Amino acid sequence: MKYEADMHIHTTASGHGYSTVKEIVDCAAQKELKLVAITDHGLNMPGAPHLYHFTNMIQFPRVINDVEILRGVEANILDQQGNIDMPKEVLPYLDIVLAGFHDNTGYEGTTIEENTNAMIAAIKNPYVHIISHPGNPKYPVEVEKVVEAARDYNKVIELNNQSYIARPNSFPHCRQFARLARKHNVLVAINSDSHICYNVGNNDKALTMALQAGISKNQILNFSVNRIHEFLYWHKENAQYLKNA
Ligand SMILES: [Zn+2]
Ligand SMILES: [Zn+2]
Repeated sequence: MKYEADMHIHTTASGHGYSTVKEIVDCAAQKELKLVAITDHGLNMPGAPHLYHFTNMIQFPRVINDVEILRGVEANILDQQGNIDMPKEVLPYLDIVLAGFHDNTGYEGTTIEENTNAMIAAIKNPYVHIISHPGNPKYPVEVEKVVEAARDYNKVIELNNQSYIARPNSFPHCRQFARLARKHNVLVAINSDSHICYNVGNNDKALTMALQAGISKNQILNFSVNRIHEFLYWHKENAQYLKNA
């Protein structure tokens, strides 16, 4: 299966990433990807970029070497009210917003119930498009409730390739997400979560698991740039609430 995009990539701006935007785009072009999303960490992550990093991404060319670049963030889920660590004034500058749990970023929930409520609240946050690595075993959730919320709000569940490397014991949780995403026909994104350019587009482990769960190509957002454009357009058009926010 040929995929066209990687929608979760960190640069040196994240503080613990090792590649520049140019290096990432060069690697993506070599691998014949058509789109990358630059999604450095939100403000509460130790070593995270300053707010100006996000507003200044307007300097990015839209396309370099036939690779389209989306301006994004991987924000931190903060609480059960749907708050993330990015100010609302800045979010309209961005094309795509991922949100997930990370250590040392201010989230204080400890129980499955609290984690589930917080993840569902993030799904309901109109600015958020994708929940990043929801299978992280450090923050267990009631998977079916989360997947049903993603279905109801047309949001995307990520199957994160890096989870198999950096987040041990993710596999059973990720498999459950894949199985239930299939059951409820929820869109998934299979991303590298690359922190160095050489990993851009690497998604073999997560992809294998998705296919084993019966997920089809049509259900994978990043297999088609057209599908990504349609998805983002739908959210812009349907986010009436953003205008009043
Ligand atoms: Zn992350
Ligand atoms: Zn990440």
